[in-house]
Amino acid sequence: MKYVSTRGRAPVLSFEEAMMTGLARDGGLYLPESIPVMSADEIAALEGLPYEEVAFRVMWPFLGGAFTEAEFREILARAYKGFAHEAKAPLKQLAPGHFLLELFHGPTLAFKDFAMQLIGQMMQASLAKSGKRITIVGATSGDTGSAAMEAFRGLENVDVFILYPHGRVSDVQRRQMTTPSEANVHALAIDGTFDDAQARVKDMFNDFDFRDEVGLAGVNSINWARVLAQVVYYSTSAVSLGAPHRKVSFTVPTGNFGDIFAGYIAKEMGLPIERLVVATNQNDILHRCLSTGAYIPDGVRPSISPSMDIQVSSNFERALYFAYGKDGAAVSELMDELKAGGFTLSQGVKDALAAAFDSGRCSEDETSATITRVLGASAELLCPHSAVGVKVADEQRVQGVPMITLATAHPAKFPDAVEAATGLRPGLPPHMADLFERPERVTRIANDLGALEAHVREHRRK
Ligand SMILES: *Cc1c(COP(=O)(O)O)cnc(C)c1O
Repeated sequence: MKYVSTRGRAPVLSFEEAMMTGLARDGGLYLPESIPVMSADEIAALEGLPYEEVAFRVMWPFLGGAFTEAEFREILARAYKGFAHEAKAPLKQLAPGHFLLELFHGPTLAFKDFAMQLIGQMMQASLAKSGKRITIVGATSGDTGSAAMEAFRGLENVDVFILYPHGRVSDVQRRQMTTPSEANVHALAIDGTFDDAQARVKDMFNDFDFRDEVGLAGVNSINWARVLAQVVYYSTSAVSLGAPHRKVSFTVPTGNFGDIFAGYIAKEMGLPIERLVVATNQNDILHRCLSTGAYIPDGVRPSISPSMDIQVSSNFERALYFAYGKDGAAVSELMDELKAGGFTLSQGVKDALAAAFDSGRCSEDETSATITRVLGASAELLCPHSAVGVKVADEQRVQGVPMITLATAHPAKFPDAVEAATGLRPGLPPHMADLFERPERVTRIANDLGALEAHVREHRRK
């Protein structure tokens, strides 16, 4: 299995290389050259298997011999052992014909644990073989950073430095980053905004001497291995509801388009998915683009579902690549137009996207109202991101095809929004109940490239 860039001008890589590289050198994103298809019998055989076994069968054809079968099984066992629910991604009924896929039973209470835990174990296994060390540096507005620190803490060949904007993440998010005690993970509170943090990380990647010296690597959401890990729960949930003999649809609260794009891959692999519905909050650039064809960023407006506050949705480029019939040059041109302010899709490309995706938007008031309504109707406490999904799913679902909405975070991760809507303050689950008693360890640092590089040099293990 070989991996190619969406812009067509970067070296073709193996799975392992694509995982370690992240972003392609031509600025594009890596995708498999072709997508393996599962037969109806193979899909039917997934029913009732442990999550790790489904993960093995779904992902194995993409790995191209990066690991032996025994190694990959061990990696999967380690990746998912910290989840607090035996099903890992349990499916719960919300209403007639409407189901909630709970993706928040991982160690940091958001769906990002599914991919981050796995990529942590895969990178460690691969580095242990080569004897190399890497330094992961990332910027976060909350969920990605906590998932990364949790996934990489204590791993032998990896050091992790996560930058977050001082004073601008929730208490739960901050504590998830500042309380791991392992010496290889470092929380850095930068004096600046999330955009500053992200810009400094980019600067470090562009300082090639520094990059080579410390073996810089990234784990942001464009990493193909993260997308692949997310294909698995589409498969377990569809099969629980009768696939391959019955079609299902999915609604996905979307920001960077990584999670919903995994659904597209699942469909291409043969899973009988009727519709994939993109649900956005008031930052609705994806909904506008899918309905009008125009992709024109106009500034982020902070919302109560902050993990979806985006204006440049990085993984959307992968969907465009397929909609353009795998024409890397055309995608490249579009991305140049985006740098200059935005782009408009041709009718043909818009139709190609519409064949796979529907979309909808949920305002701030509608998000709160949905949290309130679902608590009353089904005794279910939703996080604001999941509520965006449920509202859009209710508008889009049709009789006869079960709708599965992805619940992307635990309500306790966003207690203020949930309390404002319902009067109830959701409590942390038992495995984190003592989060507010654990000692914190964090370095406050200037928004300055020199200071950051010096800190990384000094604190990474040699
Ligand atoms: C990251 C995140 C999302 C958005 O996922 P994408 O893959 O970026 O579309 C939605 N909800 C929560 C809770 C998240 O952390």
